[in-house]
Amino acid sequence: MPLIIQKYGGTSVGSIDRINIVSERIAATYQAGNRLVVVVSAMTGETDRLLNLARQITLSPNQRETDMLISSGERVTSSLLAMALQNRGIPAQSFTGRQVGILTDNAHTQARIEQISADRLKDALAREIVPVVAGFQGINQVSDVTTLGRGGSDTTAVALAAALKADLCEIFTDVEGVYTTDPNVVSSARRLQKISYEEMLEMASLGAKVLHTRSVAFAMNYQIPVRVRSSFSDGEGTLVTEEDHEMEQEPVSGITCDKNQAKVTLIGVPDQPGIASKIFEALSRENMNVDMIIQNVGQEGLTDLSFTVPRGNADQAKEILSKLADAVGIKDVVLTERIAKVSIVGVGMRSHSGVAAKMFSRLAAEGINIMMISTSEIKISCVIHSKYTELAVRTLHEAFELGMKPTPNRKKT
Ligand code: ASP
Ligand code: MG
Repeated sequence: MPLIIQKYGGTSVGSIDRINIVSERIAATYQAGNRLVVVVSAMTGETDRLLNLARQITLSPNQRETDMLISSGERVTSSLLAMALQNRGIPAQSFTGRQVGILTDNAHTQARIEQISADRLKDALAREIVPVVAGFQGINQVSDVTTLGRGGSDTTAVALAAALKADLCEIFTDVEGVYTTDPNVVSSARRLQKISYEEMLEMASLGAKVLHTRSVAFAMNYQIPVRVRSSFSDGEGTLVTEEDHEMEQEPVSGITCDKNQAKVTLIGVPDQPGIASKIFEALSRENMNVDMIIQNVGQEGLTDLSFTVPRGNADQAKEILSKLADAVGIKDVVLTERIAKVSIVGVGMRSHSGVAAKMFSRLAAEGINIMMISTSEIKISCVIHSKYTELAVRTLHEAFELGMKPTPNRKKT
């Protein structure tokens, strides 16, 4: 019997009505002769509501307590959905992350899954029960509850799919799948029939919100086919899968933007061995996530160095470096908050030339200045002023002809 993992996001289970509707789909999948594990998010807005309660008590809540608090949202949904399924005569049972043996590291609010025993799930499946697992959570070595980072229920689902060697992981959301870009920004954005793991991983980490980045890494490492689809329709969604020859025919598959970044520039940095390591060690000691580092050619023994950090960490980064500045001999630390990172992603870039030139010239034609550039084999990112974000995305979407009718390589297979 095929084993399917179905994950339902916050809007899909956002009300009692929605929970009933979703239970119908689950019942139909079960009755069609599949084995099934369901993973749920908290009801829409619930995690924010809980975080807001904490903020009314303290502006810097203890991380362990935060995890105890926000893990409860998923627990509520899992029990309600199990009841709705039981109402339909489906033998369902809710489980917390702990009960299904999800062991994580100790990084509260950003924990990584280290091991999954899944014993109780295997047992439930053997007894033809439909387990409904609270997503987003696990426990650490000492059994304290941890959470996997915002959007982490996707990762619970794909990690369980890997642990149970499932045939398919379906991620149900409120959009029809993965689009060439955000349809709210570009109305001609097109749903992709399929996308490679690698492209999806880049798109997720570059700002596409449809899947939690770590869930894609799990899917790629364990070769789990993931289908992103809507729980509000019967559309087939987008299959995230292994790269195939067809995917390489177009240079660009998707465009993302991320406004949640800030740029830090260090001016007058001594151009000597060991300085960069001092700077980035100081940041990493505080778990700061640094991206897009560029250093200018040195002149007269000094150089400038810029990098990006998540917007929420910008002030802290500036503070750390201002403290370090005197000791290391940095002249000034400048923060630019109104930036956006716009990226084009596609495995076809490996075999098409002129992609970067086209991107830069189209941005230039719109009068958009590029502050930083970074590339990998399958992506090019530019940092620009945030006021040009939508214009840049629209311009590039058109330049790479992403909004056109499905091209042959995107036809149904
Ligand atoms: N409820 C959590 C969040 O809002 C996790 C999730 O929905 O995936 O981030
Ligand atoms: Mg999500």
